[in-house]
Amino acid sequence: MKFGELPQNARQYINGRWETGVTTGISQNPSDTREVVAEYARADRNQTELAIRAAAEALPHWSHSTPQRRADVLDHIGTEILARKAELGLLLAREEGKTLPEAIAEVARAGQIFKFFAGEALRVQGESMASVRPGVQVDVTREPVGVVGIIAPWNFPFAIPAWKIAPALAYGNSVIFKPAELVPACGWALAEIISRSGLPAGVFNLVMGSGREVGQALVDSPRVHALSFTGSVATGERILQTTAARRAKVQLEMGGKNPLIVLADADMDQAVDCAVQGAYFSTGQRCTASSRLIVETGVHDAFVARLRQRMAALKVGHALDRDTEMGPVVDRSQMEQNQAWLEIARAEGAEHIWGGDLLERATPGHYMSPALFLAKPEHRVAREEIFGPVACVLRADNYEHALALANDTPFGLCAGICTTSLKQAMHFKRHAEVGMTMVNLPTAGVDYHVPFGGRKGSSYGPREQGRYAAEFYTTAKTGYMRA
Ligand code: NAD
Repeated sequence: MKFGELPQNARQYINGRWETGVTTGISQNPSDTREVVAEYARADRNQTELAIRAAAEALPHWSHSTPQRRADVLDHIGTEILARKAELGLLLAREEGKTLPEAIAEVARAGQIFKFFAGEALRVQGESMASVRPGVQVDVTREPVGVVGIIAPWNFPFAIPAWKIAPALAYGNSVIFKPAELVPACGWALAEIISRSGLPAGVFNLVMGSGREVGQALVDSPRVHALSFTGSVATGERILQTTAARRAKVQLEMGGKNPLIVLADADMDQAVDCAVQGAYFSTGQRCTASSRLIVETGVHDAFVARLRQRMAALKVGHALDRDTEMGPVVDRSQMEQNQAWLEIARAEGAEHIWGGDLLERATPGHYMSPALFLAKPEHRVAREEIFGPVACVLRADNYEHALALANDTPFGLCAGICTTSLKQAMHFKRHAEVGMTMVNLPTAGVDYHVPFGGRKGSSYGPREQGRYAAEFYTTAKTGYMRA
């Protein structure tokens, strides 16, 4: 099948077989809402139970498979994703709305992640230590955590599932993957590649459908030993309550309200570039987006003027148009939320600097111009996640004030600073209350071989990605031995 066309009947993948669902759903192209991207099968609780049972039955065999076998499977998946990145990127741009170059880069990232974990499967490490008792040997080994439920959001429909599924399989777990409802074709395309990688039936399962039914079934099931979730704070908090009550292992990656500090000594071209990329690329629909631009007073007005100029020139359009820099908002509901935020900002007294207008293009899509406000720290627009192309500028008296503003948030995913001062960059790296810091770089944009995650309200549980992923997808066993 060609992905330029409608996927024929995207189905569930359960116990090694493609299954129809209980109902069907569709996904639409946000750049052209007349276009249906996928028709897909939607599961209910019972069908999700079947997938969970299949994963539980497949676990004993797979969890004792050799590292070489797992490495071969993951390498196979990564190789195919990389070879097909242009075609899969086109599907992603059509279904989620990010620009084609962004989409192809995301697919390539997913391929690299599978390749990385193919290597990690061969490097599962333990420790051997001297015992405190005479004649005793002690070691610590790592074992799979068990059946893993993976619940993903819509904004990175290849990369986020990849960075959860790849380590889960690498360390010998079985998986039930539930993609977000807006991006079933991407979830299905990834599953289709995984289905041909040589995995035994039941080790990997795809169930599509609503969060309330399919997602909740994964969260509730005592057979699911670990749950990895990326999505909104509200859903994450609900999942935490249920999984904590049944003592399942859980990892939550949730929202952000990430600051980018611009100091008076910064390279202004670089700072404006970091702000535009961080706040508006991928239509601001990134948990790592820079939605709070904290600018030192000496350069505040000049920075805002230059940023506004750059925003006015930003090309908003169809995700597949060659010169588009910012694609559409993902769907109508997210667009309504973005528009409601503009109203909230105005009503609170934030000063509107630019954008937020609904735009008409050649095709009917969810287009809006990037928006900027001058806000006060107490404004909701400066405190709550919007998840759209809406950013605000906060004025800071000096570096110390900027740092205090940056940390004055319930979130703690990432934080950036633009400065030429080594002293202040080093101080910031140590004192920003986040999981990731960026100096003279956009807050969005990370590597795949190092930990990803945050502090405070942004994340819960062990970090994702890189070698640190082993913390979540394995459990430690301490062995004592005497001859
Ligand atoms: P969402 O919370 O609505 O949905 C995320 C996933 O959870 C979807 O698959 C959904 O179907 C499922 N879900 C919904 N209700 C559920 C329930 N009761 N039980 C189990 N699963 C349920 O979030 P979204 O709208 O898809 O994504 C946007 C949000 O994701 C933003 O808030 C953003 O900040 C966050 N996000 C965070 C990161 C990160 O790494 N921190 C990355 C990307 C997105």
